[in-house]
Amino acid sequence: MNQSDIRKPLLLLAALCLAAFSALAQDPEPQQVDTTTKPIEKQVRQTFEFKDDRIYFSNEFDGGRLNRVEKDETGRYVITITPENAPINMSPWYAFKVWSKKKKEIKVRLVYPEFARHRYDPKLSTDGRTWTTLDPAMIVEEEKGPGPGIIDSQPKSVTITLRTSKKPLWVSAQEIQTSKHVFEWMDATAKRGRFAVEEIGKSREGRPIRMLTIGNPTAKRMILVISRQHPPEVTGYFAMQAFVETLANDSELARAFRNDWGIYVVPLMNPDGVDEGHWRHNQGGIDLNRDWSDFNQPETQIVRDFLNRRVAETGGKFYFGIDFHSTWNDIYYPMSPIFEGNSPRLVQRWLENIQASIPDYQPRIQVNARLLPTRVSRNFFFDRHGMEAIVYEIGDKTPRDFIRKKGETAAGEIMKLLMDDARRSPH
Ligand SMILES: [Zn+2]
Repeated sequence: MNQSDIRKPLLLLAALCLAAFSALAQDPEPQQVDTTTKPIEKQVRQTFEFKDDRIYFSNEFDGGRLNRVEKDETGRYVITITPENAPINMSPWYAFKVWSKKKKEIKVRLVYPEFARHRYDPKLSTDGRTWTTLDPAMIVEEEKGPGPGIIDSQPKSVTITLRTSKKPLWVSAQEIQTSKHVFEWMDATAKRGRFAVEEIGKSREGRPIRMLTIGNPTAKRMILVISRQHPPEVTGYFAMQAFVETLANDSELARAFRNDWGIYVVPLMNPDGVDEGHWRHNQGGIDLNRDWSDFNQPETQIVRDFLNRRVAETGGKFYFGIDFHSTWNDIYYPMSPIFEGNSPRLVQRWLENIQASIPDYQPRIQVNARLLPTRVSRNFFFDRHGMEAIVYEIGDKTPRDFIRKKGETAAGEIMKLLMDDARRSPH
């Protein structure tokens, strides 16, 4: 019996364990969709004035989404939130500013199109940087769904109570992280460690797609990190920040890793969607994470071309690719262990090590057993480059300090494993 004869049943067993373990997870299998550019409806940037009440609502800022405001017969301000186009994933992003001449307590009703439901707990800020979650006692849910699915159990609309004053109050589905915030974070991270930031292309609307390069730019061993294909998925972005900051920090482990590895990070795949306050799509009206086989959109083309260039320039390989997202609850979507790339079973070993490092945390894992057509980033990373690849999903409501802790642990464990594997099979 040779080694691979032993290994196959073990891999099958591992796959079965993972499959059984993740039986409760939602089906991640993306439907086949046409990713050629479709029209979108741009929201009108404006300030809605209620002159008699001296109340003002505005979407005139990056990340804002507010399509209409009217006052109903009970005195509530009814805010309508619509998507960039449809059909679309149920992630109804909203963000607006509200202020009043005098201090007031007002009721604001958030309503959505017939097919959508309310999803995100309102976050508040007075400076656009620090955020709190609105006290649940200030939220009244209307027409709560019967369930049993996560989406179906959500309310059709909510009425929230807000305290307004002359100073604008930001109200948003999640903490606002626009291209400006992301680029500031990239520049600060680069400056701290003397890393490089470069523009690798432009989005459909001409915003830069920027790459942060950490580590050794001539290394033949490389990893890829991307996030924010989907604009509202801010918690996934926070996880990416914790992950990347750990790769970039001053620890002995990170410094050793960076000597031998090139780390390429695209923190903002969809800057147009983020700044326009989209629910899901890019400015071409397309879910970018369905375009990794047809490459009809500039944002996916840019990363595809970058990877080809980098492999040609270094003569090396990408060993690991991670794409950060958000969904209802934390979940990992790795490739099935039947797919062996440049560092076989890396992702399974990594998830085990993360779990061992965080006691009392039972992660949900759902493996993907269908490779083609690639459609999503993870499958493309594996199929074209042999990267061990994963979609790393964070829940909308996952406590922000836990997101950070898990991201830091995840980064530490992947560095150790990649270095171990590299020692065992020198380039
Ligand atoms: Zn996503």
